[in-house]
Amino acid sequence: MSVQVVAAKMAEVELKDVSAGKALPAESPVTPTSEDKTLARNEPQKEAGSSAAAATSPTAEPSAKAGEGNRGLLTPSAAKMPQASALKHSDPQQNGGDAFVNRDGTVAEAPRMKKIQFADQKQEFNKRPSKIGRRSLSRSISQSSTDSYSSAASYTDSSDDETSPRDKQQKNSKGNGDFCIKNIKQADFGRREIEIAEQEMPALMALRKRAQGEKPLAGAKVVGCTHITAQTAVLMETLSALGAQCRWAACNIYSTQNEVAAALAEGGFSVFAWKGESEDDFWWCIDRCVNVEGWQPNMILDDGGDLTHWIYKKYPNMFKKIKGIVEESVTGVHRLYQLSKAGKLCVPAMNVNDSVTKQKFDNLYCCRESILDGLKRTTDVMFGGKQVVVCGYGEVGKGCCAALKAMGSIVYVTEIDPICALQACMDGFRLVKLNEVIRQVDIVITCTGNKNVVVREHLDRMKNGCIVCNMGHSNTEIDVASLRTPELTWERVRSQVDHIIWPDAKRIVLLAEGRLLNLSCSTVPTFVLSITATTQALALIELYNAPEGRYKQDVYLLPKKMDEYVASLHLPTFDAHLTELTDEQAKYLGLNKNGPFKPNYYR
Ligand code: NAD
Repeated sequence: MSVQVVAAKMAEVELKDVSAGKALPAESPVTPTSEDKTLARNEPQKEAGSSAAAATSPTAEPSAKAGEGNRGLLTPSAAKMPQASALKHSDPQQNGGDAFVNRDGTVAEAPRMKKIQFADQKQEFNKRPSKIGRRSLSRSISQSSTDSYSSAASYTDSSDDETSPRDKQQKNSKGNGDFCIKNIKQADFGRREIEIAEQEMPALMALRKRAQGEKPLAGAKVVGCTHITAQTAVLMETLSALGAQCRWAACNIYSTQNEVAAALAEGGFSVFAWKGESEDDFWWCIDRCVNVEGWQPNMILDDGGDLTHWIYKKYPNMFKKIKGIVEESVTGVHRLYQLSKAGKLCVPAMNVNDSVTKQKFDNLYCCRESILDGLKRTTDVMFGGKQVVVCGYGEVGKGCCAALKAMGSIVYVTEIDPICALQACMDGFRLVKLNEVIRQVDIVITCTGNKNVVVREHLDRMKNGCIVCNMGHSNTEIDVASLRTPELTWERVRSQVDHIIWPDAKRIVLLAEGRLLNLSCSTVPTFVLSITATTQALALIELYNAPEGRYKQDVYLLPKKMDEYVASLHLPTFDAHLTELTDEQAKYLGLNKNGPFKPNYYR
């Protein structure tokens, strides 16, 4: 039985839960050109026709065109598995570029974040790094590896053990030593963390169940570089249940949950990560994942692009055997598009970051839940009656505003886009310019994806005790560097909380030094991560099983159908009952009854 049939079976069974046993047909790939958008809007019947044709012609010849990669490539039952179409995304988010700029201040006393060095600046690893060497601060152009993410934060504190994991002989209870982590003795605790995460990751658990002996990833050798958290552990163990071998490093030097890494190592996974890696450790761990005798990866799962970059720089020949890259982050996707534009991308890549479900759930729902958590943990602030200004009313801003409004805060919004501005007005928020309210507000939150939205002039005018934080892009939105001047005093009052004190004793409360508040100071809902992880798993299955020629050396988006499938896998958690289109309704709307229900450009 082919791996795609297995995947299709999984899809079929699961979809019965949500759509009364109706299986999905193969996706009819759509390239989102402007003509397509017009077609989809004006001629729904015609589009439906082609969808239906694809659904009923599962044995049709594969198209050589990139945009038509999926049609007819599956067996009839495999046709029920939603497929990633060869859907090119020609307009990537471009805001990842700023993430490479070092915006560090120069005041020696100021609290600093550890920085890491980019791969090609580093040729050799320290054999026995000194403590100072391990903690060296150097120019960072790899923001993704320093953006803290402490949903991931380890609850165990093993900081009293100063021995570098690299200096320890490590073995699990079965005598396997192919890993490097902080402390294998924490494995039991980590296992419990993983079990808790499993409860909120229903789709991955469903994929595991559906696999039952069939292995759509049999033979896959996945090298991964993501946050090493309980949620990632659920993903890795799912990939393993689906037949893959995995070697993993952390994409962030702060975010590894040591106890989870221990549980994974105890379970036989080759994990190279610990919380508080130095820059040298960071690349060493990545290298240990890929540079191993008798094992070569054939799939990459990356978050931030550092792993992909490392293989490009150090082991370009590996790409001969690599079938594809799945990338999650804005920064990593941006790098892939740059490679693609330069004609240097040598394997197909899936852009998971821009899939609709990830965008919607990460940006809106995740931020709606985590903004309050981040503020509360850092400041213990009460929200009722507080005046808050939220800069940017996109997905993230909408989530933040909704949460704060629900808590009784008085919320102001700033926007540059009249459409989002009007949405803010219609949602009952006062649209203002930042200058108009800056003196009176208690909390300032940036969510624009832009740079220098809050500058020194605003910071000078804020009232005593004003809390300032960023939920948007990296560390660019608040001009933190402008606060590193001799007349201002920085006082670290808690982890991730600085008081900046003016000569007249006014102080503002800066959270996470202007980096993402929720990723630095709170946890992120596991359910949201489940959606991303499921998308990653399906993208790996798709790229790994795609026949030669379906994907070219380019960056692809998952089609709407796959997004709908990921969502459908999560619906049973809510005992949700999805309405089915009648034949008449489907015809009227010009839709296939089994989806996709929206055009690819729908956001
Ligand atoms: P979006 O594009 O939907 O919204 C951003 C909004 O900011 C837009 O409406 C834009 O018009 C507005 N804007 C731009 N410059 C502005 C300015 N100077 N003043 C006021 N408004 C301005 O994007 P989004 O999905 O809301 O994401 C925003 C940022 O948050 C992105 O950088 C994204 O990567 C990041 N993000 C953060 C998290 C998190 O967990 N904290 C999650 C997802 C995304």
